This record gives sequence, C-alpha cells and structure tokens, in this order.
Amino acid sequence: MQVPGSNFVAAVERMSRALEQLALAPSAMAVLQEVVRCAASSVGLERAAIVWLDVDGRLLAQATPGLCPEALATCGRRLLDTPTPEPVPWLFHQTERGLAPGLSGVMDGLGAASLLALPVRAAGGGTVGVLLGPSPEPRGFSPEEMRRFTLYAQLAGLAIERGRWVESARTSALQARAEAEQAELLRLISVQAVTEAFGRALTREDVGRAVLELGVPAVGALGGTVHQVSANGGAVELVAAVGAGEQALAPVRSMPREMPEMPGFDAAARGMPVWLESLEDARARYPAFVAYMSRQPCQAFAFLPLRVEQRSLGLLTFGFAQARHFTELERTLMMGLARQCAQAMERARLYENERAARLQAEAAGQRLQLLADAGVLLSGSLEWESTVASVARLAVGGFSDWCAVDFLDDHGALRRLTVQHVRPERSLMHDKIESYSPERARPSAITEVVRTGRSQLVTGLVPPFTREVEARPGEQAVGGSFLIVPLVARQRTLGAMSFVRGPESPPFTDADRSLAEDLAARTGMAIDNARLLRKARSAEAESRRNAARLRSLVDVDKLLAEAGLDLPAVLDVIARKVSEVMGDGCVLQLMAEDGAFLEPVTIHHPEPEARWLLAGTVHARRQKLGEGLHGGAVSNGRAVLLPDIDVEEARASGGLPEYLPYLDRYGPQSLLVVPLTVKGRVFGSLGVVRDVAGGRPFGEEDQMLLQSLGERAALAIEDARLYGAATEAVRLRDDFLSVAGHELKTPLSALRLQIQMLARTAREVATTPGLAQRVEKAERTSERLGALIDELLDAGRITAGRLKLEREEVDLAALTRDTAGRMSEALARTGSEVKLVADVPVPGRWDRVRLEQVVGNLLSNAAKYGRGQPVEVLVEPGLDGRARLVVKDNGIGIAPEDQARIFERFERAANGQQFNGLGLGLWICREIIESHGGHILVRSTPGEGSTFTVELPRE
Ligand code: ADP
Repeated sequence: MQVPGSNFVAAVERMSRALEQLALAPSAMAVLQEVVRCAASSVGLERAAIVWLDVDGRLLAQATPGLCPEALATCGRRLLDTPTPEPVPWLFHQTERGLAPGLSGVMDGLGAASLLALPVRAAGGGTVGVLLGPSPEPRGFSPEEMRRFTLYAQLAGLAIERGRWVESARTSALQARAEAEQAELLRLISVQAVTEAFGRALTREDVGRAVLELGVPAVGALGGTVHQVSANGGAVELVAAVGAGEQALAPVRSMPREMPEMPGFDAAARGMPVWLESLEDARARYPAFVAYMSRQPCQAFAFLPLRVEQRSLGLLTFGFAQARHFTELERTLMMGLARQCAQAMERARLYENERAARLQAEAAGQRLQLLADAGVLLSGSLEWESTVASVARLAVGGFSDWCAVDFLDDHGALRRLTVQHVRPERSLMHDKIESYSPERARPSAITEVVRTGRSQLVTGLVPPFTREVEARPGEQAVGGSFLIVPLVARQRTLGAMSFVRGPESPPFTDADRSLAEDLAARTGMAIDNARLLRKARSAEAESRRNAARLRSLVDVDKLLAEAGLDLPAVLDVIARKVSEVMGDGCVLQLMAEDGAFLEPVTIHHPEPEARWLLAGTVHARRQKLGEGLHGGAVSNGRAVLLPDIDVEEARASGGLPEYLPYLDRYGPQSLLVVPLTVKGRVFGSLGVVRDVAGGRPFGEEDQMLLQSLGERAALAIEDARLYGAATEAVRLRDDFLSVAGHELKTPLSALRLQIQMLARTAREVATTPGLAQRVEKAERTSERLGALIDELLDAGRITAGRLKLEREEVDLAALTRDTAGRMSEALARTGSEVKLVADVPVPGRWDRVRLEQVVGNLLSNAAKYGRGQPVEVLVEPGLDGRARLVVKDNGIGIAPEDQARIFERFERAANGQQFNGLGLGLWICREIIESHGGHILVRSTPGEGSTFTVELPRE
C-alpha cells in the first residue's frame, strides 16, 4: 500500500537529486570567472571584474587577479546604487571632468586611469551586477570592443541569473527537504504517539478517543469525531468526540449510513478524504451540509474514511475554526492518522471478538471444569450423601450463590441432604429457602419439579421465596433467579437440585439450565449407582455374615461332635468357640441341682488377665434365678441384649453385679445372654461380653447367632449329661453285679459241696427211692447257678478291663472233643445228638480255660435252642492259617434283626420265659475271641437253625 507522506518525501528527494546534478554543471562562479577573463582579453585589458548581488542582496565579486576586492565592492555598489547613466557602456576617465568624486577614489583603488563598466542585467530586465574593465592607462574603446564587452556582460547576466536560480532552487529544495523532514518527524512523532496510544487502546471507544486527543491538536483542529459503522451495517454511530458540545453532537450520534448528499458519506463511499475548506466550498459541493455547518463554530472540515482492506469501518472527522487551505502535509498527516485509526479500530474489534470468544471459552471451560470436578467427586465415593454435599459446594461460587439438594427417601418423603451458601452471612433469601421445608404434601417449586420431572428456571423475582418479603409493606422485593432441576436416574426422579443467584449476579440462562441438568443427571446416576452398589454390598455382606454364622455353627457342631459325650470337653468347646465367634469373653452357667441358683461352669476369654477377672467376679457371687443378667435370662427364658453399657449404668441398674468389676476395669462393654433350653426346659445361660471400644456393639444378628449357638450348646450339654447319667447307672449296675456275684459265689460253692456229698451218700445208701435223682437234680441246679454266677463275674471282669489271657499251646480239636465229652451228659439230657468232626489237630497259642468257656457256651446254646435236633461241631484249620470252629444246630434260629444284637451284653432274642439265661454268654464269647484277635459270626434262618463260626489266629 502506498503511503502519501512517503511519496511526498520521495518527490522532494528526487528534486534535490536533480538539483545536485544541475549543480554539477559549471557553477555560476566558474562561468563568471571565465567571463571576466574573456571580457578582459576581448578588449585588450589585463584585468576585469564582475560585481553582482545574490538573491539575498549580498554583493559578490569575481575578478581577475590583481584587483582590490574592497575597491571592487565599493565600485560595484556605487554603480549599482546609482541610477543607471545612459548611454551604456559607461566609460570613466580619471581625467574626465565632472567625474563623481567617489568614483575617482574607487578608480584609484582599482588602479584605473580609465574604467569600462557595463551593467549586467537579468532576463527579467533588472540590473543585477556590473562588469568592470579597469585600464591602468587612459584609453578609449572601439565600438567593436564595446560590443564584445557588452556581450560578456550579457553572458555574465545569464550566468548570474542561472546561479541565482540554481541557488534559489537549492534553497527551495533544502527548505522543502527540511519541511518534509519536519513533517516526517512530526508524522513519525504523531504516528508513534498514536501507535502507542492505540497500543494501549483496547476498545474502539479507546481508539476513537486516542486518535482525537492526539490528532485534534496535531492538525490544529477545533474538534473531531469518530464514527463507526453499526453492527448491522445500516447506520453509523458516534464512537468518540473531542471539542464538540452535546448540542452539536446530538444530531450526529447515530446517522443512517446512506446519506449521499453528505460529505462524510461521500468520503466513506469513495474511500477518499473530503476536504471542505470553507463555507463557500461546502455550498458549492455539498449544499445539504451547509445547514449543519452554519450551526457549527467550524468553517472547514476534513472527512477521512476509516478503511481496512477495502472495508469501510467508519469516519474520522476534524473540524477547523477558520476557513483554510489544507496543505499537502496536513492532508498527508490527517490521512495517516485516519489509516492508523482504522487499523487500531480493526485491531480493537478483533480484540473485542477474541475477548468475547475467550470469555465464552472460559465460561464453557468453567462449566466443563465443574462437570469434570463433579464427575471426579461422584465417581470416587460410595458415601454419596457427603459426595452430593461436595458437589453442591462445587456449584456454589462460580455457578450459583446457593445450592440445595433434596432427596426422596425410602418412604417417598423429601429429605434435604445439603444446603451450601456462597456467603452465609448474606443469607436473607437463603434462610427463607432453608425454612421452606420441602414436603411432598405441601406444593412448592421443588415438589413440582420432583413430581413432573421437569426443571424450572425463574428469573426476576423468586416468587415462592419472596412471598413473605412482598407481603411486608414498604419493603423492596428481592430479585435474583432460581433454577431447580430434577435428580433423575434410570427414568426415576430421585429428588431435585436447586440453585439460586442473588440480584447481584446475572440471572440463570438456558445454557445454565442445561449445565445444571447435566450436573443433576450425573449426580442422580452416581447416587443411584452408589445406592444399588450399597444394597448389593450389604446383601453380599449379609450373605457373607450368614455364611460365617453357618460356618461357625458347623464348626461348633463339629467340635461338639468331637467332644462327644464328655461333659467337661463339651463345655470347654462351647466356651472357647463362642468366645472366638462372638466376642471377647464367654460365661456359661448351669442351673444348680437345687434349682434356685446358677453355677458358672465355664468362663473363657482370650486374654488370661481378663479371663481371670471375669472368672473371679462371676464365681465370687452365685447368681440367683431371676437376678442379674444371667439369672434374668434363665428365669424369663429370653435373651438379654445390652449393646453398650458402662460401669455407672451397670451400677445404677443394679442388675449386673457379676460384671461390675469387669466393666470397671475394661470400660463400656456390649453384653448378650441367651438362655440354654432343651424341650422348653431352661437349664442354664450362655453369655458373651465384648469391648465396645475395640469391636462393635452386639446387635440383633449377634443375638440370633448366639441363640443358635446356645441351642446347639444346650443339646450337646443335655446329651453329655444324659450320657454321663446312663454311664453312671451302668457302672453302678456292674459294680452291683460284681459284688453280688462274689457274694453269691462263696455260699454257692459251700452249697454245691454239700450237695455233692449228699449225692454220693444217697447213691451209696439208696434207701429212699428217687432220693438219688432228686439230689442229682439239686446238684445240676447248683451247677447251673454256679455257671450263671461265673458269667456275672466274667462280665464284671470284662467291663472292668480285667480279662487276662493266659496263652499256652492248645489243640483246639482236642479241646473241643474234651469239652463236648464233658458236656455229653448235659447234652444228652436235651436230646440233641452231637456230631463232632474234630479229627485234625488244630494247634495254636490260646487261653485254654477261656476257649473251653467259648466252646461250652456255644454247645450249651445249641442244646438249649436246638429243639433236640442233632448238633454238628466242626474244628478245622482255616484257609489262611487260622483255626475254625463251627457249631451248627437245627433249632429255633434267630431273626435277622437280632443277629448282631445277641452279641451285646444282656441282649437276648429268645422268649425269656421259655429259655432262661442272662444274655451274657455270647457277649463273653465275643470278648474272649476278639481279645485273641479273632472273630465270631452267626448265620441263621428262623425256624431252621443257627450256625456259629469262630475264627482264631493261631498266635
Ligand atoms: P442266654 O442264652 O443266656 O440267653 P446268650 O448270650 O448265650 O444268652 O445268648 C443270647 C441269646 O441268643 C439267647 O437268649 C438266644 O435268644 C440267642 N441264641 C443263642 N444261641 C442260640 C442258638 N443256638 N439258637 C437260637 N438262638 C440262640
């Protein structure tokens, strides 16, 4: 783009360069010197000189050597000042009469007897100098010499004129250059100042003010205005004004853009400045403007279009007090200002746009930041109540002055989760809102939003909250805006988020509404997720607890099973396991036999010191039924739960004497006692104690668990106690039988001896018929009685573990043969024939007497239950080196369900009235055989007979 100011300077440059070239031609001085020299020689003189005036009126001289300069100057001035005497050339002689006295002196100074002088005239006609030809001798000059001298005078005139012209041109050029330099300097200074000012100007108004404040004094204007094209392009609007009153400005504040008759429009439309130098000028060119002009103090105007890249931005106008001619320099300067102004305005416009965009981006950034921060908060925690409060805190400040979150609880009632203030101290409106209880039953903006699921945005007054204020007469209603958005998740409205901006803040916009909805959607989703997750977790925890409870119960069952029926072991297991599962300490008390007191039977605590203290305090005081924690639980048959109790409470209640020292020592405890019940009968209590500070207090679940443990414990205790009682009874019976057996044995032995003697005597005497048979019968009866007593004594021995084997080399076949032989008489009496197959010796190391007892027992049973049928006895070596004894009868047989039982003590299958016996024989046989490492079994079909098989290892 061309810069007019620079063009002007360039033109001046060009001109001065031309002058310099011109000056390179022979200078006027050189020409005059030559002229002087030539003029002298042309008339036969040695010397000549020329004296002339320069443009400034200074006298200059050029002479051949030897002429006195002062004399020349005096001569020249005299001749130039004197009215030109005619005719010319002048010729003066010293000797001439009438020669002016001054001239005579001058001629003397020049050493001239005669002096030829010729005026040198410029082209314009004036005399500018004198050409002098002094002659030392008096002489005259021929017409030819005169003509030649005249020619040189003319030449000198030309040279002087040219010199003068060159000089004046140079002076002009220098002046022009100086002016241009000054203008450039001024321009630069102005431009610099303007640029600097524009650099500081951020808005178009700033730019307008800057250009006027600098430009008006710089161009000597009275005032100025800057107009810009309006945003829609249809008008021009005043941006800034300097030096013009309100009245003058009123009509030009805003003008239609299309005003063809006006100079400003003309300038803007053509993109060229319009210079109005006077009222007349205006009248001639813009008559419509004259009316305006005549009301103004200004007589001249400059209208400068503000353009950037062919776009018209507006107009810069300067008004001048006087009609004037705008010099090139002024025009250049003003156009430069307009150009700078236009660029600065464009910059300001771009800056304003950029700033607006930046603000917009910042606002968007803040929104995104809010959402992002909220997202981070919401995704981080399952403690959603506190998270929601944090989100509300985030929203307060940048986005809102006040924020509340209301939430529908499980019963459908709105609960206020949080209220956040930006400035709690300015909470007139806030208090109103807070006191505005959000209940579903009472219609409000919030309940409306929750009900419809649609957000509400209200600007201006905040109706529901200001109603009270409005009601108060004379008080100004509070302004501001509020925004309520539903908290929605999975098509369900969970509550609402409310935001309020005070009257000082800009009201909420639709963009704010969508941001709030976005925030609420995220919050709602996070709440819902957290709730679902919490539910899932609590279900999981519940099932885990159930599993743990079950595992504890299974563990207890297993341990109780392992403890078996041993009561101390059972009690120990219960106390330890309950202590491990439930709490720190466990106290198990059983009802004493008198039924009035409880007796602590087991106390456990993992800490020995605590166990000692607990045991000490519990044992120290026997607890009466209905008294204290345990006594109460037992008498009521109900669990007692004290989740958190300290020593003071315990003392005050008076119901916990057994725990006082413990509470005193270990601080607040959680206590739980359940009664131990079997078949509706309470017989004891099971209590646990847990340190509240260290663990968590007992609750319902713990109570259920302890009740389950208590049920198991009660059963196990009951079983163990019953078993203990039964075992005791059996022991007493065995003791009794043993004592009885011994007590009977002695008199029976004496009796049997007497009967034997009696039988012998009866056989010898045989006086009374039948006496011998009766005595024999008595003998057999006593034998049987003896066998029964032996059985009883053996049973006692076996039970007491006193059955001792005395092994020796025994042939089972021989032993069986002998025993059968000894019993043959008794067997024969039953009618059963014994078929004995025991031919092969079957030796082994056994207790002979005890094996005889086994064989005898089996044979007598076969006879007893054999219905007089033959009995087969077989003794043989077994397959694997064992000895085998088989006794087979064809008697009544044994029912399948009785076949195992008959080997137990006192167990009988047969009818007791028909077949007498104690039910001990087979049990004793089994004990003897098993103590030899063998075994006995029976195969039988009822009504067909039984086969008993004994297998014995040889060693
Ligand atoms: P007891 O014969 O004194 O009753 P045991 O111990 O010898 O006692 O026998 C137990 C029970 O086994 C008998 O009461 C009887 O019912 C049954 N029993 C034993 N031996 C036979 C058998 N050979 N035939 C049928 N029943 C038998």
